[in-house]
Amino acid sequence: MPVKPNTARSKSASKSFESINPATGEVVGVFPVFNKAEVDQVVGLANSVSEKWADLGFRGRYLVLRDWASLLTREMDSAANLIHRETGKPLSDARLEVALAIEHIAWAGKYAPKVLGRQNRPSGLLMFNMASQVQRVPFGVVGVIGPWNYPIFTPIGSIAYSLAAGNTVVFKPSEYTPAIGAFLEECWNRIAPFKGIFTTITGTPETGVALTESAVGKISFTGSTRTAKKVAATCAERMIPVVLECGGKDAVLVDRDADIKKAAEMTLWHAMSNAGQSCIGAERVYVHRAIADRFKMEIVTMAREIKPGFGEGANYGPATMPAQLKVIKAHIEDAAKRGGKFLLGDKNSIKDGFVEPVILADVPEDSLAVTEETFGPTLVINTVSNMDEAVDLANSTPYGLGAAVWSKRNGKKIASLLKCGMVSVNSAFSFAAIGSLPFGGVKDSGYGRIHGAEGLLEFTYPRTVVRRRIRIPLEFTSFNRSERADRILIRLIRILHKRRIR
Ligand code: NAD
Repeated sequence: MPVKPNTARSKSASKSFESINPATGEVVGVFPVFNKAEVDQVVGLANSVSEKWADLGFRGRYLVLRDWASLLTREMDSAANLIHRETGKPLSDARLEVALAIEHIAWAGKYAPKVLGRQNRPSGLLMFNMASQVQRVPFGVVGVIGPWNYPIFTPIGSIAYSLAAGNTVVFKPSEYTPAIGAFLEECWNRIAPFKGIFTTITGTPETGVALTESAVGKISFTGSTRTAKKVAATCAERMIPVVLECGGKDAVLVDRDADIKKAAEMTLWHAMSNAGQSCIGAERVYVHRAIADRFKMEIVTMAREIKPGFGEGANYGPATMPAQLKVIKAHIEDAAKRGGKFLLGDKNSIKDGFVEPVILADVPEDSLAVTEETFGPTLVINTVSNMDEAVDLANSTPYGLGAAVWSKRNGKKIASLLKCGMVSVNSAFSFAAIGSLPFGGVKDSGYGRIHGAEGLLEFTYPRTVVRRRIRIPLEFTSFNRSERADRILIRLIRILHKRRIR
């Protein structure tokens, strides 16, 4: 299916911008820059239909989401092709990304009633005459702001879960990947019961700012920590709640009893796939001294076989955002200056937008390649004496998104010591593909969760409803409260809670 930017909007928009294939320079499409007035208009429409969408109920929304998942499955090749052209990533990676996004749409629709259905809660002895209930209420319109590195998988974690929870959604894709955002909306419009439930607004960061200032009930942002802080500050002005899914500096901990070959193979993919442009990409390895040489030898041997490129046979694509090349170069140069050793590649590995694999060892812990997100196909491998040291170092950055642990015996124990949102043991990235698991980080990696039951709860707020079931002679919440009622209350509390202090 060709990408058709909404021409009616293109005409009304004051400006437009091009989406460019970073590998070939081809123009993938021209898209309108939504200005503030246009964003407000779209959010206004989304607000006006939000109750109607919520009123469809879980079953009604499930059927629409199921149709969307089915249509995207039929259109998987078109979607993957568009991602391939807009980001430069290999077609097979793009297809995998679309497949995982479809899984999440299906999961959110199916499990919303179970997670968000009304819950009766016990009222306790003091309030035994009351019926207590918690209802989950959608926010109205959720504004979703997305990045370019996984332009469908990442925002779907907010879009699908918000829709399933009964919100309408206005989506601002990255300025590097507007075509896939427009494509998502086009597919939605083909199955939607009425207009305004899900709309894509393309544009620059100013369009994102306009969305955060509009009449949304919640913002779900995925992108850099720097932008997340601005988004949170804008939302704080009007007390708009936010989910922040930000960057990371994920560590891989390899213990002496690890399956070295498997750990090397999967860590290489963890670090280099998508040209290292993954928020949960491996950027640091802490490997036990006893197996460090073998691990390094295995991973470097495998890394020699992978190549960047755009054509068939390439393992990963170019830097989607050309400005990132400067960051990658600065991190490599800084590591080299501070005595880091190149096991593979060097600063000349950066070529015409593509970066060949770079593996460094013994890089000082305070260098940029260890402390800041590099977002390139580079990996630092540092040696540790034991896993306590590995855990300390893994926890020592301001980020706390994901991590991986490789150990036959101690994986779960080591995982429990890591200060981050997600850990995979003897695998890489696997949590992202499991619908039932929450996704998100701590510290500079953000707050709030997408995916899983937590992701559905995130896009609703709890409304507590307490109803008097029976009248009893003891009224506590009245100016007519009697002394007898007071005495009974205090006696009850003493019976329930006064015990000897240990
Ligand atoms: P970015 O912060 O530059 O931009 C993200 C989005 O925010 C874009 O759509 C942009 O137009 C918009 N934006 C920019 N300024 C804004 C503002 N002031 N107000 C509102 N919106 C604004 O990030 P990016 O370069 O697109 O994405 C890469 C980053 O995203 C990396 O740090 C990566 O780790 C992170 N990321 C995190 C996750 C996660 O789930 N934790 C997933 C993917 C990517």
